[in-house]
Amino acid sequence: MAQLILHPGKERSLFRRHPWIFAGSVDRLEGRARPGDTVTVLTAEGKALARAAWSPSSQIRARVWSFDAEAAIDHAFFKRAVAASVARRAAIPALHGQAGVRLIHGESDGLPGVIADRYGDVVVLQLTSAGADKWRDAIVAGLVQATGCAAVYERSDSEVRGLEGLESRTGCAHGALPAGGLTIVENGVRMEVDVEGGHKTGFYLDQRDNRLLTGQLAAGRAVLNCFCYTGGFSLQALAGGAESVLSIDSSAPALDSARRNLALNPQLDVSRAEWQEADVFKALRALKDEGRKFDLIVLDPPKFAPSAAHAERAARAYKDINLFGFRLLNPGGILMTYSCSGGIGQELFQKIVAGAAIDAGVDARIIYRLSAAPDHPIGLAVPEGEYLKGLACQVG
Ligand code: SAH
Repeated sequence: MAQLILHPGKERSLFRRHPWIFAGSVDRLEGRARPGDTVTVLTAEGKALARAAWSPSSQIRARVWSFDAEAAIDHAFFKRAVAASVARRAAIPALHGQAGVRLIHGESDGLPGVIADRYGDVVVLQLTSAGADKWRDAIVAGLVQATGCAAVYERSDSEVRGLEGLESRTGCAHGALPAGGLTIVENGVRMEVDVEGGHKTGFYLDQRDNRLLTGQLAAGRAVLNCFCYTGGFSLQALAGGAESVLSIDSSAPALDSARRNLALNPQLDVSRAEWQEADVFKALRALKDEGRKFDLIVLDPPKFAPSAAHAERAARAYKDINLFGFRLLNPGGILMTYSCSGGIGQELFQKIVAGAAIDAGVDARIIYRLSAAPDHPIGLAVPEGEYLKGLACQVG
């Protein structure tokens, strides 16, 4: 097995159990390794620290599979790791009875580059690193064994695969998709999941608990849901008794899916829902000009800052939408605002939101801190920014 030798002192992040080894930390590779092959990681002094997947074309040159430098990285290793991830979800009471659950959350489950989401009988798998790609068959077999699922559909079409020198790959890796399309029930609301064409693996499971909270806060309120995608927050708000729900997204296919989702739920009052295809930045200004007001506003934008390099521009974008969010609220109204940007930490996000409230001239306080659902664990070594963060702020 090839050996990856670190520059002096570059083992510190590994001692904190951070699984990434950047190109700048690598002194040399001794022996031969193809992309995805397992290498042993050694300090400059020759002490073996870990086993990792080699990825020569990525800035993240290696990702750790095990901090036991003697661990066998083989089929059995992946079957055990997959089974352990699935078992962790089974032990969380809040996930019992949920049809849509994230089963594997990459680094946080010790499986860098592996995402697996279960939607009923179908597991959608996304592999984003050379190492994960190499062990595809073992991971698929592990998922089938641990879940008994009817199908594993692969959505390895994320752009980041390009950085790893990988082509995109989609299609069934096991079984077949149900002929009539796939739906799940999330907290009493039926939603279609387009595993072939939807974003990511088809659905944003990380917001499940926050969608439920929105429903609980929605009774009698005029709701505005920005970046609504397939209407997850909108439908929970309707289910919770919202007086009206205006939902905005720039994607026509997402809005079509949202309308179909509403039709899948005959218990909800269609006449209270309004859908608008628009750029949220412009739509918020137009709503302000029209003098519209709301009692509950959800802002769940896409990643404005994938990394710290984009933080400044992203901060302006967050400030802008939150400023208008606050301006459009009635007294006593609630703004539920999120960021999933790796480049914006919790503290900075709160500062941006606080600045927006001041500029909007409102007196606001945080009533809930919002995070991703528990099937999206966060490894303790993961940097602060790298997860969903949100605030529910009530204005005076
Ligand atoms: N809240 C959703 C997920 C949002 S994903 C849920 O719970 O399922 C982000 C959405 O923002 C996508 O649907 C994308 O089409 C939309 N989007 C991105 N940029 C936008 C813009 N400038 N204006 C309006 N919608 C935008």
